[in-house]
Amino acid sequence: LNSDEVPKQSEENLRSPICCIMGHVDTGKTKLLDCIRGTNVQEGEAGGITQQIGATYFPAENIRDRTKELKADAKLKVPGLLVIDTPGHESFTNLRSRGSGLCDIAILVVDIMHGLEPQTIESLNLLKMRNTEFIVALNKVDRLYGWKTCRNAPIVKAMKQQTKDVQNEFNMRLTQIITQFKEQGLNTELYYKNKEMGETYSIVPTSAISGEGIPDMLLLLVQWTQKTMVEKLTYSNEVQCTVLEVKVVEGHGTTIDVVLVNGVLHEGDQIVVCGMQGPIVTTIRALLTPHPMKELRVKGTYVHHKKIKAAMGIKITAQGLEHAIAGTGLYVVKSDDDLEDVKDAAMEDMKSVMNRIDKSGEGVCVQASTLGSLEALLEFLKSPAVNIPVSGISIGPVHKKDVMKASVMLEKRKEYGTILAFDVKVTPEARELAEELGVTIFTADIIYHLFDQFKAYIDNLKEEKKREAADEAVFPCVLKILPNCIFNKKDPIVLGVDILEGIAKVGTPICIPSRDFIDIGRIASVENNHKPVDTAKKGQKVAIKIVGSNSEEQQKMFGRHFEIDDELVSHISRKSIDILKANYRDDLNMDEWKLVVKLKTLFKIQ
Ligand code: GDP
Repeated sequence: LNSDEVPKQSEENLRSPICCIMGHVDTGKTKLLDCIRGTNVQEGEAGGITQQIGATYFPAENIRDRTKELKADAKLKVPGLLVIDTPGHESFTNLRSRGSGLCDIAILVVDIMHGLEPQTIESLNLLKMRNTEFIVALNKVDRLYGWKTCRNAPIVKAMKQQTKDVQNEFNMRLTQIITQFKEQGLNTELYYKNKEMGETYSIVPTSAISGEGIPDMLLLLVQWTQKTMVEKLTYSNEVQCTVLEVKVVEGHGTTIDVVLVNGVLHEGDQIVVCGMQGPIVTTIRALLTPHPMKELRVKGTYVHHKKIKAAMGIKITAQGLEHAIAGTGLYVVKSDDDLEDVKDAAMEDMKSVMNRIDKSGEGVCVQASTLGSLEALLEFLKSPAVNIPVSGISIGPVHKKDVMKASVMLEKRKEYGTILAFDVKVTPEARELAEELGVTIFTADIIYHLFDQFKAYIDNLKEEKKREAADEAVFPCVLKILPNCIFNKKDPIVLGVDILEGIAKVGTPICIPSRDFIDIGRIASVENNHKPVDTAKKGQKVAIKIVGSNSEEQQKMFGRHFEIDDELVSHISRKSIDILKANYRDDLNMDEWKLVVKLKTLFKIQ
């Protein structure tokens, strides 16, 4: 066992600040992390997209070393900096800790060539909502035309090396972006010109490719937090800890990755975490961290600790963590705590989510990777524009049992025999079972995509039902036979008619109320101006062919069973009305529905 490779206690007893990175897609968030980490996660991942949550710990020495050129003689009071890898703001919403944001400070990345973009503004709103401090990294300065690379140089030094043209372009773009921030109600200024830190947000120009401005950014983060957040960063004995991810690790079983925000965790501590089936009370078997400067989720050997002080990203192994829920708090049971109280506290987060399940018991099943993303998804499904009821929720990969649960819904309503899986894996066995039972599983990493898929599926089902129902749905019509337009009297009957009311549709069974409701067959075709059509409407004069469906109907003959003055009417029934209502509600206008009601009376349908 390695001795405690934990941050040394700082003189003022501060913990490391926690920082996250936000901003519009492609502004260079991942690249910036790589750059400060000196690793290359981005290129190792398909499409450079990072969807997981990781944390990297930067010891103070590392920061001191990298910022020495700034000659600030960084008097670091914090033991280090913990950077959370937050691609976009979806995971930011997961990073809650007792209702407030988990991060002490954020880096808002803006592409100097693009300025403020839609997700920049969304990020800004989230930061405002959570009251989270931030600095702006004005990234990709190396893309200014004619930029001379000064690898890892402080920005002022790098800027001095540039031609007047480059400096001018930089200033012009900077001014524009400061104006854009102003339009969002925020004052911003280059950090080294910023005299009113706190009221005016600081901008650090950076290049994640060649490293200019990175020392400035690191120093600013540390200095700013240790100066203004002393209270928040003061080390406390009260454990504040959030579960980021639940995962199975070979040789360790199910583990949880947590961010310890404050306090200290010990091997052997009794802990309570929120679980799908209730609170999980267990004991910390091992406290593991990756080696410094390596990201938490990169595979490799771990360092074991007897105890760990905040702030730190930690992997915890313990028994019974299989059903732990990411995005919830971890609680330590102290000797004078009432276990039941701690359990209640741990389940608090889950309760708010449970309350969103549809009381009717009918709805889709929803599954997400963390409590935060589940909450976001439920919120979205509930919004009036979407309005998809939810009958069950789960967190983590989709297993066979989840498919079984969803299949129960198939009998109630086929379309709800569905799992919407957000940012989670589906096990092969679950897929197989779903196929067998007819449960549909939709997966996506973006909420809107899930919705689009589900909507397309529902539309498709509706169409399918319509096709199935087409034979049984009867559109209402009242037809008057036109004189001199009796083209064939029998088998088939071919007549010119005036549509007095409703819709004459191919397939409609026709009867003659004035002649004891005799059935004469179904409309086999409709011709309007010699062109075949599927339907014709009130006011049109068309030729119709009526074909008897059985030998009795085939006997019916114009001039014998009915005459020119007898109206032809759709033969509707209770069932046909129900099918029409269920599948064609929008295909009939108000008058046509009124006709259905009228025919209902005529046919004495209850
Ligand atoms: P993210 O979506 O915000 O995580 O953006 P990435 O880090 O994936 O970067 C998007 C693209 O911009 C990639 O092709 C990066 O190589 C590139 N990029 C990121 N930072 C810089 C930078 O400072 N300068 C230049 N020239 N390209 C950058």
